[in-house]
Amino acid sequence: MQVVDIEAIAQKANSNLREAWHLGCTGRSVEALTLASQTLADAKSRSDDRTAALCDTDIAWYCLQIGKAELGITHVRKAVDFWKSNGEPIQEAYARAYLGWLFLELGLPEEAIEEATRALDLADRTEDARVQSLATNVIGIIFWYNKQPDRAILMSERAVELARLIGDKTFECWWLINLGGAHSEGGYIAQSLGQQEEGHRKLVRALELTEQALDISIEIGDRWAARICLGNEADYYSHLGEHDKALQCMVRYQAFQENSYVRDRQQYLYTLGQIHINGGNFVEARSLLLEALDLIGDGGSFDSYIQIYLYLSQAYEGLGQFDLALETHKKFHHAYLQNSAERTQQRARLAEIYYETKRFKEVAETETKRADTLEASYQKLQEETDILASAVYLDALTGLYNRKYLDSRFKELESENRPYSIAMLDVDHFKSINDNFSHMIGDQVLSAIGTILRNQLRITDQAIRFGGEEFIVLLAGPPRGAADVCERLRSAVEHWDWSEICNGLQVTISIGVAGTLSANAPNEILEIADQNLYAAKRGGRNQVVA
Ligand code: GH3
Ligand code: MG
Ligand code: MG
Repeated sequence: MQVVDIEAIAQKANSNLREAWHLGCTGRSVEALTLASQTLADAKSRSDDRTAALCDTDIAWYCLQIGKAELGITHVRKAVDFWKSNGEPIQEAYARAYLGWLFLELGLPEEAIEEATRALDLADRTEDARVQSLATNVIGIIFWYNKQPDRAILMSERAVELARLIGDKTFECWWLINLGGAHSEGGYIAQSLGQQEEGHRKLVRALELTEQALDISIEIGDRWAARICLGNEADYYSHLGEHDKALQCMVRYQAFQENSYVRDRQQYLYTLGQIHINGGNFVEARSLLLEALDLIGDGGSFDSYIQIYLYLSQAYEGLGQFDLALETHKKFHHAYLQNSAERTQQRARLAEIYYETKRFKEVAETETKRADTLEASYQKLQEETDILASAVYLDALTGLYNRKYLDSRFKELESENRPYSIAMLDVDHFKSINDNFSHMIGDQVLSAIGTILRNQLRITDQAIRFGGEEFIVLLAGPPRGAADVCERLRSAVEHWDWSEICNGLQVTISIGVAGTLSANAPNEILEIADQNLYAAKRGGRNQVVA
């Protein structure tokens, strides 16, 4: 008879997870992911659900570090469900915080803020400072990514404070990096508004904070964090016009490089390439970027290609090689389009993951817990509705919101008392695009318009596919500025490189816009926007009527 020492097996799993965490904290997240995945497979084969959930939670963190957001979400959602049904709020808070961060990485800020606030809520209730620190930091990053640096700074400062309080150096280091990032964002915004002094001050502060993070990363041996610090510092110096210092950072960066990671090497090359472009040294930039391009076949990240093509075209331009600049810029555009199509697919797959988890849970629940209280099932229903709603509100072709979403927003707008405008967009002569180029090309045009709208709009604005080739944009704020935004959208569509989709293709749109100055109810405003659109069409198309 075989004797199985359950205690020893569980201990082995725990020590594996500790080892993985150590790898993750010393810049070897790929190995950390491998080890945690092995431990997970082993736990599953033993039906050790709790260890499996621990693995799923930690895997999320490694996935974040190496840019595999989708994989991370698949794992961490299972963990969230387990912690919740097992009644372990601290673990649930960790898992939800990671989930929020992963959503953000996928470009889903609303889902991100929902998970992050739930995480913080749980963390506050448990009064566990470590997970409070994590959740606070995630909320800070969400603000940072959404260009609200002041709020981001408040949250990140609090996260750093909490990490210090409990003496967690890893957290302190990472949150300081983010705090630096939030300051730099403030700096860039100030610079773009022409407030040079303010911009300078904020970038200097970003440098100080990142330098603190760098010191800690070296102290604890976190090579990954050290690379991020030095890459960020180089970027900040470069924006301050201090190219020599930026280059010095990149020399130091090399000392921390993990040459086995293609992605890392690529990142190094294009960051350095960009610094040389800012410094006017196009020859050097070109050779670095060409080297980075060579690595594409070896498994670098897709995001990197986009950056590389963009910088390479700038380097060619600087060298006066305009043919090559144009050719490379087209590749940039192509990669960009492909990337946004991929994001749309990711969103669709994400919805699948939701459903699968849901179905799985339902089966388990009907079998085991028939005697659920009424309240619990009501809450479940609520959550299910939330989840369904987030998937039901998206348009599959363009990745924009759909009409259902518009209806629900209209209800909200009616009850709020805030100024806004509604723009109605319609593609000009779309029928002839279908007729002359094919329906498939027509669909690609609609999808590209989705991309353009997403790129051009501010975070406070929302683009909706109203139906067919008609779109609606909800613009927050006083109606005065709305026409300018619309003009920008119109021009962006007109100047988009449509030949990427098909030779000879040209696309323009007409826009009608109206705001809260013209009427009160959203339906009435929409009606006026529609009349203005009609006027734009009659006036010859490719124009905005406000
Ligand atoms: P106008 O400048 O006056 O707007 O001319 P138009 O040709 O765009 O006007 P119309 O509204 O008559 O044509 C819209 C066409 O859009 C008709 C329909 O076949 C096509 N369409 C609607 N939905 C889709 C879609 O999802 N994909 C494609 N490829 N075509 C669509
Ligand atoms: Mg139409
Ligand atoms: Mg049309």
